[in-house]
Amino acid sequence: MSARIGQQALMVLMAQAGSAWRSVRRTLTTGGRGGSEETRTSSATTPAPRRAASRSLLLRVGSVLALAVGGLSDVALATPTAAHGPDRALDQQLGQWDRQSYNDPVGALRGLAALRAEPQHADQRLSIDYLIGRVQAVSGDVDQARRMIEALDLQPGGRPLAQVLRAEVQDRVGSPMKAGELAQQALTDLEPACAPSGGAIHKLGPTCHWRPTYHAMRLLARAEGGRGELAFADARLRQALVLAQSVPDTYTSAQTMGVLALSAQSLDQPAIAQQWLSQAWQLAQGDTVAMVRLRMIEATLASRRNDQSAQRAALEDGLRLAAHVDVRREVASMRTHLADAYIHSNEPAKAAEQARAALPVVLAFGDQRLERTLRHNLSVALIQLRQLEPARREIERVNEIARGDSDQVRRSLQLRELGEAYAQVGQWREALRLYHEERALTAETTQRNRESSLQQLRLKYDSEAKQRDLELLRRDQVLKGQELANRRLAQFVGIGLAVLLGLSVILLGVMLVRVRDANRQLKLNQRLLRAQSERDPLTDLANRRHFLAVMDRQTRQDFHGALLMIDIDHFKMVNDRQGHAVGDAVLCEVARRISAAVRAEDLVVRWGGEEFLVFAPAVAQDQLQRMAERILMTVAGEPVATEDGPLRITCSIGFAHFPLAPSQLPLHWEQAVNWADMALYTAKSQGRNRARGILAVQAGDAQALLQIEANFEAACSNGQVSMQTLLGPDGDRPSV
Ligand code: GH3
Ligand code: MG
Ligand code: MG
Repeated sequence: MSARIGQQALMVLMAQAGSAWRSVRRTLTTGGRGGSEETRTSSATTPAPRRAASRSLLLRVGSVLALAVGGLSDVALATPTAAHGPDRALDQQLGQWDRQSYNDPVGALRGLAALRAEPQHADQRLSIDYLIGRVQAVSGDVDQARRMIEALDLQPGGRPLAQVLRAEVQDRVGSPMKAGELAQQALTDLEPACAPSGGAIHKLGPTCHWRPTYHAMRLLARAEGGRGELAFADARLRQALVLAQSVPDTYTSAQTMGVLALSAQSLDQPAIAQQWLSQAWQLAQGDTVAMVRLRMIEATLASRRNDQSAQRAALEDGLRLAAHVDVRREVASMRTHLADAYIHSNEPAKAAEQARAALPVVLAFGDQRLERTLRHNLSVALIQLRQLEPARREIERVNEIARGDSDQVRRSLQLRELGEAYAQVGQWREALRLYHEERALTAETTQRNRESSLQQLRLKYDSEAKQRDLELLRRDQVLKGQELANRRLAQFVGIGLAVLLGLSVILLGVMLVRVRDANRQLKLNQRLLRAQSERDPLTDLANRRHFLAVMDRQTRQDFHGALLMIDIDHFKMVNDRQGHAVGDAVLCEVARRISAAVRAEDLVVRWGGEEFLVFAPAVAQDQLQRMAERILMTVAGEPVATEDGPLRITCSIGFAHFPLAPSQLPLHWEQAVNWADMALYTAKSQGRNRARGILAVQAGDAQALLQIEANFEAACSNGQVSMQTLLGPDGDRPSV
C-alpha cells in the first residue's frame, strides 16, 4: 500500500463528513508535535507536505486538538486587572518555583520546603504542599507525588488538590484521558470557590485555589481535545485564561494564550490564532523562558500553515533563547520539534539524531509524555531509515507508555504516520493494517467532534435562549414595576382627591353653618331692627307702625276687639310751663301707668304726640268699661313727680267695642280707630278728665254706619248713637 493511502482515505472521510470536519483535518494533516511543559499540548514543528510524506507523531497531538473552536474572546483581549487572591506575595513565590521546577525540580523542591517551614505560611500549607506534589509529579518522582497525594487527602480541604495531583500523575505517565476524568472530578469541588464565570475577568474569592483549578482545567481541556471534543476543549482553555488573568499571573496568561492560538489554528481560524500569539508575545516580553515556549508554539503554527521557513526560524530562535537561560528540558523539546521537521523534509537520519540527543534529557526528567512522542518520532525516522526492528522496539515502548489510555486522536495520527512511513518503504502489509485501524479510529473521533460541536452549539443556544428569557423577565419586571408605580400614583391621587373632597365637604359644611349662623344673625338683626323700628324710643311702647303691622295680620274688613284712644289733657301747657324735658318725662310716666292699667294681652301704642291707643283684642263690654276707668284712675290718681315737683295729670278717653252693638256690622280697623277717636272728641268737648264709651249704634247697614260716622255729633244727639261717660278722679276737673 502506498504512502498516500492514509491521506486518500482521510480525504474521502473528510468529504463525507463535510466542512464541519475541516478543523480536524487540519489537525490531522499538520499534526501536533511535542514540546515543553507549557507547550507540550501544541508544540509542532514540521509542516505537512501534501505529498504525504510520513508524519511523525510528536507530543500532544490530543492537546493540539484540544486547542479548539472559537475566535478571540473579549476575555482574551482584556488586560489583566487586579484581583484578590489568597496571599499575593506567597503566590508569586510559588509561581517562581513552579516555573523553575520544570528544569530544576530539585532546586524548586528545596525552595518550596523552605517556604513551607516559614511559620507565617502555616495557613497556606495546602497550596505549598500541592505545588510540592506537582513538582514531584512533573519531575517524574511519582512515588513521592503519591505520598503527597495521600497526605493532602487527609488534610481538611485537601481532597480536591490531591485529586488534581492524581490527574497530573496520570498525565505524566502518559494517560491524559484518565487525567481528564480525575481533573473533572477535582473541578467539581474547586470551581465554585474560584467561580470563573465564562466571560469577564473576575475577582477571586479567598478560598479559591487558583493554581490547582487552573491545572485541572488544562488537564481536562487536553483530555477533551484528545477525545476530539474541540469546542469543549477551547471553552475550557478560555476558562483557564480568565482564571490566570484574574490572579493576575502574566506568565500563565501568556502561556494560555499560546495554547489558545493553537486551538484556534486547529479550528481553522488562522487569523485568530495569530492574534492570540501576538497578544501572548507582548505579554511575555522580558521573560525568556516564556518567550522560548511561545517560539515553539509559533513553530507549530507555521508548520500547520506549511510555512517551513517560518517554522525553522521560530525553532532556531527558540533554541538560541533556550541556550541563554539553561533550560535543558526546553532544549530537548526543541530537538523533538526539529526531529519532526527533519522527518517531514525526508531527512530521517537527522531526525533520528535529534531524537536520540533529546531522549536522555527527556528520560532524566521522567517525562513519559514527551518520551512517548519522541519515541514515536524516532520510530517513524527509523522506519524511513528501514531499521524496522529498532523501529518496532520504539513502537512497542510507545504502546507500553500509552497502554490503557484512550487518547484516540493522538492514536489515529500515530497510526497514520506509521502507516505512511511503512508505505514509503514498501511495507504494504503493515501499512494496510495500520490504515484500516486508523480509519476506524478517525471515524469515531470525527463523530465525537461533531457531537461536541453540536452540543456546544446547543449549549450556546440554550444560553442565548436563557438570556432572552431573562431579558423578557427583566422587561416584564420593569413593566410590573411601572404598573405598580402607576397604581401607587393612582392610589395617591385617589387619596389626595378623597382628602380634597373631604376637606371640601368640611369646608362646605363650615361655610353652610356660617351662612346659616349669618342668616340667623341677620334674621335676629332684622327682627331686632323691626322691633326697634316698631317701638317708640321715648316711651318704649309700640308705635303706630307696629299697630299697623298687627292690623295687617287681622281681617281688614272685620275688626274685632276693643279700642281705647287716650289723650293727655292740656299737655301743651305742661310743655309750655315745665319745659319739653318735663313733658317727655310726663309722657313716659303716663305710658307706664296706662300699661300698668291694662292686661298683658292688651297692646298699648303711642299713637302720636301725647295720644295713646289701647287695643284689647278679647274683652267684654263691662270689662272694657272697667279698663277705661282703671286708666282714668291710674293716670290721674297720683300726681306725676317732676323736677319741678308733683304735677297733676288727667286724660280723656274715647272707647268702643267692635263690631259695634247691636248691629255688629263689620268695619275696617281704620274706621274703628276713627270711632274711638270720635268718642275721645266728645270726651274732650264735654270737659276732659273722662272716658266716653260707645254703647250702641243704630245702623241697619254699612252705609248707614258710614253716614252716622260722617255726622257723628248729630247721631249722638238724635239717639242713633248711645254712649256712656266715666268721670276721672275729682269729678270732671281736668288737669291744669
Ligand atoms: P287738649 O286738652 O285739647 O288735648 O290740649 P292739649 O294742649 O293737650 O293739645 P294740643 O294738641 O294743643 O297740644 C299738644 C301738645 O303736645 C303740642 C306739642 O307741643 C306737645 N307734644 C307733642 N308731642 C310731644 C313730645 O313728644 N314731647 C313733649 N314734651 N311735647 C309734645
Ligand atoms: Mg292731643
Ligand atoms: Mg291733649
